[in-house]
Amino acid sequence: MAKAARKSRPRVVKTVKALREALSEWRKRKQTIALVPTMGALHTGHISLVALAKKSAKKVVVSIFVNPTQFGPNEDFTRYPRTLDADLDKLADAGADLVFLPDAKEMYPDGFSTMLKPSGPAAVGLDDKFRPGHFDGVATVVAKLFTSVMPDIAIFGDKDYQQLQVIRTMARDLHLPVKVIGAPIVREKDGLALSSRNVYLSPADRAAAPVLHRVLKESAKAIAAGEPVEAVLSRGRAKIMAEGFKLDYLEARDAATLAKLGDEPQRKPKVRLLVAAKIGKTRLIDNFAV
Ligand code: AMP
Repeated sequence: MAKAARKSRPRVVKTVKALREALSEWRKRKQTIALVPTMGALHTGHISLVALAKKSAKKVVVSIFVNPTQFGPNEDFTRYPRTLDADLDKLADAGADLVFLPDAKEMYPDGFSTMLKPSGPAAVGLDDKFRPGHFDGVATVVAKLFTSVMPDIAIFGDKDYQQLQVIRTMARDLHLPVKVIGAPIVREKDGLALSSRNVYLSPADRAAAPVLHRVLKESAKAIAAGEPVEAVLSRGRAKIMAEGFKLDYLEARDAATLAKLGDEPQRKPKVRLLVAAKIGKTRLIDNFAV
């Protein structure tokens, strides 16, 4: 059968000025706008966010920006995968209306001096501990995207669960009039969460990687059945390390605040399991609801 004709690519704007001009037409017509922020190298997980955005608003803006301020000095900023042509084709198929593709100078012009410094869920000893400054960069760039686009809705993946809670808190604290929505994690058949960084995995590392999801799932089941949390987590940590991972953390936290369980004994919180671990040069994160 002939392949369906590709839809035309969405318009690409590179400056905040051009972005605002494009958006003003939609605003005049009272069309609702959803924003999906990404760093490109798009996969089915990102496209699921665009699909949810299309259901949630009349117009969908996708930003593609590999944000330098959220990478540490020894992280993968320069080698982060960049696949713009393929990204634009995928966004055409997904029906995105506009792509905001700023360069670093547009987002951080000379003299840029106002970084956000989130605390709360950004200071709980998870990714914040292993990637110092990461959430300052995330909160700053997302706040700038929010004030540039002024979307009604913004969609983020549960995949980056701590990031999602940091952004929810930032939007609330700064009175930004945007509804932040979390979308479910899209996984490979063997459970590995889709990530732009999975392309770094060697075949052997790729074969080991599903242990993260497996341990999260088993641990969630055991905790829900009433097994003591610390014993379950110790077992899970050992399984992950036995597959050759260097473990940063496997933790059970309050799903809303990411505080340690028992820090607020007056409430019985929903629990979220979160993991981060390195195999070879690749750092993977994942999480799961109990
Ligand atoms: P990134 O380009 O990695 O910064 O991700 C952009 C957005 O896509 C973030 O909100 C991520 O949480 C989300 N995302 C990344 N991977 C997945 C996935 N496997 N499933 C759902 N959302 C994802």
